[in-house]
Amino acid sequence: MSKKIQAIRGMNDLLPADSQIWGFLDNTINNLLLSFGYKYCRTPNVESTETFSRAIGEVTDIVEKEMYTWKDNNGDSLTLRPEGTAGVVRMMIEHNLPREGIQKVFYNGPMFRHERPQKGRYRQFHQVGAEVFGASDAKIDAELISITDSLWKSLQINAQLEINSLGSAASRASYRETLTGYFSDNKDRLDEDSSRRLKTNPLRILDSKNKDLKVLIAEAPKMIDHLDRESNEHFKSLKNYLDHLEIPYKVNPKLVRGLDYYNQTVFEWVSNELGSQGTICGGGRYDGLVEKMGGNPTPAIGFAMGLERIALLIHDKSKQLISDRPHLYFLSMGESAHFESMKISRQILEVMPNITITNDITIGTLKSQMKKANKSGADYALILGEEELAKNVLGLKPLKGQGVQQSIELEGIIQHLQEIL
Ligand code: ATP
Ligand code: MG
Repeated sequence: MSKKIQAIRGMNDLLPADSQIWGFLDNTINNLLLSFGYKYCRTPNVESTETFSRAIGEVTDIVEKEMYTWKDNNGDSLTLRPEGTAGVVRMMIEHNLPREGIQKVFYNGPMFRHERPQKGRYRQFHQVGAEVFGASDAKIDAELISITDSLWKSLQINAQLEINSLGSAASRASYRETLTGYFSDNKDRLDEDSSRRLKTNPLRILDSKNKDLKVLIAEAPKMIDHLDRESNEHFKSLKNYLDHLEIPYKVNPKLVRGLDYYNQTVFEWVSNELGSQGTICGGGRYDGLVEKMGGNPTPAIGFAMGLERIALLIHDKSKQLISDRPHLYFLSMGESAHFESMKISRQILEVMPNITITNDITIGTLKSQMKKANKSGADYALILGEEELAKNVLGLKPLKGQGVQQSIELEGIIQHLQEIL
């Protein structure tokens, strides 16, 4: 036997047994976003490296150490997308979409980051994200948060909302100086990463996961105390909306998010059921990014949620949340019955597309097929043998204790199934 080939560490198969949760998640999120007027879009999994390095920022975890990047045959530097916003911004600019008015879009797909794999952290993972271009009022910030809040409610997920404001570009610049001063005064307490970032991007130090820096970071000057008047108003307005919508939140002055492009509103939803991988959704405003990427100045805001972490949270209550498709197992005995069973299945499914019919293909005895029917988890067995064919009827046997076997006229079978399923 030759050596088995294995999947790459941190890149997982979705096994058929687990796919129901994912189908359910995709449908639920799709419907929710469509109902709020967001349109689906899809960008490629691969973009030129510059799309990400320019958007996300050179001095970030993602660009510094997490991207899968390689040289194409012609020498172009390409990257597997580590997140979705950069590509959507590139798409907006390339197709001049913000010119047509406010754009509300969402995407759903795989992202790739070279991280240390652990529960809730993978090298290929999946995100749904929503982005809005052309709106600067805090009402849209509140709408995005309220959409995610509705999602947790419908999935019965318990998550806490944390918000913060990073202010305008100008107020951030002066805050940056204050912060540089503070961390320079405490230089000997910084680790290697943070010492480097002190020169390149001191805000990033606030995002450090090193526990030794916890106290130093907690005592650092806070952006929220250095906001300009306009950012203050914007933040206040967002909080008013959230109060009015009765969405509880905590202001977390340390929340800066791992990407460079944010300004004003940033937010995260955190579950305390996932250990240190507790953030299930993060987002924020990025008013300067479209211009930085070569487009006309366009205010924008978005969020991204990690589907693996959400799937972990709903795994144990999936039976409560997801209703199974009605399932029939079709047994047939004899050549003519095999032909006929396929035809009848098709006729039923044309009228009832939301049920599942498993057509037995083993061509075995009634007994052996019935064994498979019982094992399949189906609700009913449909039985077609020579005798039924001759009488123009179908046997219908409940498999989950809902009564005894009946004989149903072939002509009336669809109507009968519609009544019982
Ligand atoms: P973290 O702090 O957990 O590394 P992040 O700030 O890097 O998260 P974002 O870039 O904001 O994450 O991505 C949004 C969401 O995508 C996260 O809140 C999380 O749910 C999910 N996510 C991010 N990285 C991974 C990963 N490697 N594996 C699984 N899910 C992830
Ligand atoms: Mg990360």
